[in-house]
Amino acid sequence: MKMRPLGATGLNVAPIGLGAAQLGSSEYDHSKEIVFKALDMGVNYFDTARGYWDSEIKLGKALKGERENVIVSSKTTGKTKEEAANHIEESLQRLQTDYIDNYHLHALSDLDDVDVRLGGPLEALLEAREAGKIRHIGVTGHTFPSVLVAALKRFKFDTFLVPLNIVEREPLAELIPLALETKLGVTIMKPVATGLLPAPLALRWLMNQPIAVAVPGATTVAEMEQNATIGAQDDHTLSEAEEAEVTQWALDLATDRCRICMECLPCPSDIEIPGTLGTDVMYNHYRSMGPAKFAEFPWEISRVEDEWQKRESTIAKIDDHAACDSCMQCESRCPYGLPIVSMLRSMSPNMKDMLDIWSKESSKV
Ligand code: SF4
Ligand code: SF4
Repeated sequence: MKMRPLGATGLNVAPIGLGAAQLGSSEYDHSKEIVFKALDMGVNYFDTARGYWDSEIKLGKALKGERENVIVSSKTTGKTKEEAANHIEESLQRLQTDYIDNYHLHALSDLDDVDVRLGGPLEALLEAREAGKIRHIGVTGHTFPSVLVAALKRFKFDTFLVPLNIVEREPLAELIPLALETKLGVTIMKPVATGLLPAPLALRWLMNQPIAVAVPGATTVAEMEQNATIGAQDDHTLSEAEEAEVTQWALDLATDRCRICMECLPCPSDIEIPGTLGTDVMYNHYRSMGPAKFAEFPWEISRVEDEWQKRESTIAKIDDHAACDSCMQCESRCPYGLPIVSMLRSMSPNMKDMLDIWSKESSKV
């Protein structure tokens, strides 16, 4: 693959990496095959996080023997220096390595959080960098790009990770130009809008943006191969027909894609609205695989058990229609005008079907 510089880090990256969150969903043997396919295809950037279930552990195991040839990224959501320092040690152990190339302050939520995270947690990362445990310091955010703009203006990060795709283009206005000006490595999550966009088109569009690397997840070896093949193409210029498709997808999903901005919270019923509508990896699996393939998937037992409990509780809250009907606070707060309540209700039957499938396939769970 044609490599791109990762900002001023001195590292060069293939433009398609692997976002490892989905490795937490399947048994190790399945996850390993995805990582091996990525390596075979020339992918060299692997993005994980402590919060992505056991993906650090699986990635560390699968990358054994390849450590010097790859760039590993991980993250902490720690709010204190001690917590972040502990997270770094845990990540090192779980990844079976003595250094992490790129370590992020993960998911800065608002300006108050910028104050908190650029205090003690950043100190922990600076000390770890000094000690050679991490090599570069990054930052991630899912909410408004202005939060990351504020963070980038206060500290000279090496890289950052933000959502960018055909529907969510907000970072192109100020955040990415600022990053390019200051030579930060631009890394991209949610490139296919959590499975809502067709990957070939979405990734080809993204390859034309001023980014270093996008980190789509992959549920199967075939998906990994498809993503890496797009990264390896010499020419990503979109045809007129593709441009028209991009425009249509942007219009179609404008009021159907949660941007994970958190503005709808708090919910009096305690429904994790952004987590349900915007970042639900398991639901994404169900939607993209369809029920039959979902049933055949080699699920990671501990993950499914955890998901099962959370999902039963979410379904019960969504199905309490009277509570939402007398509230509707979230919809009045959503800056993108999403019909949140009907979106949640339309997910409920599919979530029940997911539980049903897991139940029938109980030998696997
Ligand atoms: S309408 Fe329902 S989902 Fe929205 S905030 Fe109220 S209780 Fe929560
Ligand atoms: S539902 Fe709307 S307000 Fe809530 S996180 Fe998504 S985009 Fe933001």
